[in-house]
Amino acid sequence: MSVALVTGGSRGIGRVIAEKLASAGFNIAICYSGNESAAQETIELCKKHGVQAMYLKADVSSEAEVSEMFAQVKSLLGPVDVLVNNAGVTKDGLLIRMSEADFEKVVDINLKGTFLCTKAAIKDMMKNRKGSIISITSIVGVQGNAGQANYAASKAGLIGFTKSVAREYGAKGVRVNAVAPGFIQTAMTDELPENVKEDYLKRIPLNRFGQAEDVANVVEFLASEKASYITGQVVEVTGGM
Ligand code: NAP
Repeated sequence: MSVALVTGGSRGIGRVIAEKLASAGFNIAICYSGNESAAQETIELCKKHGVQAMYLKADVSSEAEVSEMFAQVKSLLGPVDVLVNNAGVTKDGLLIRMSEADFEKVVDINLKGTFLCTKAAIKDMMKNRKGSIISITSIVGVQGNAGQANYAASKAGLIGFTKSVAREYGAKGVRVNAVAPGFIQTAMTDELPENVKEDYLKRIPLNRFGQAEDVANVVEFLASEKASYITGQVVEVTGGM
């Protein structure tokens, strides 16, 4: 059975991606950084689909923790066939008030974390001559957003990273793509003030906020053989925003 690792799979979009891949028959590993009970809950949901599932505490911005995570997943489930780089954070603020620490934290988790996990996954994928890496970027990385210079930079970086790694490893059977969600209803977006949410809604032609399921459906497709001729792409899931 193939193995999928979803970083930040304990809650939000990552949880729904993990469940979706479990329903498609993948054995599942997820990591989280702080909230263990949420991770346990995700694992229970995945197991209902009759697959093996495990969770680990690992900070994706730490090379040592990422390396340990891949070693544990390999010894318990086998090498990772599908990697979903989903773990991400925001530390919003106008540039003029943005601290170096807030810039570094967001880039470290969102961008460097994806670099470390992708690097850790790619050796086995090359050896097996198959693999699918899917990174969750954001429409903000394409369009920019006031108050999110750090987040937008990290997400734009993911797009360049995805396209470069796709070119390096296509000949080895490894596909590398990104999904760029728009406004998806999760804890991350629940925090926004009502007037900001209303402004977003006006800019969405399909006239609704996205659900985690909308993102997970595209991830499932990109992970599958149905996407076997697709690499280096960024699929926007934004309701047309
Ligand atoms: P969320 O609900 O805040 O969940 C974030 C997940 O990442 C949690 O599982 C969290 O685990 C984990 N995480 C955070 N820092 C980590 C670290 N250093 N190492 C490992 N795991 C870490 O976020 P979400 O809204 O589902 O977003 C998921 C992804 O989609 C992110 O990359 C986000 O940028 C992207 N995205 C979201 C939206 C949206 O509208 N929500 C739109 C575009 C893109 P703990 O709880 O243990 O910290």
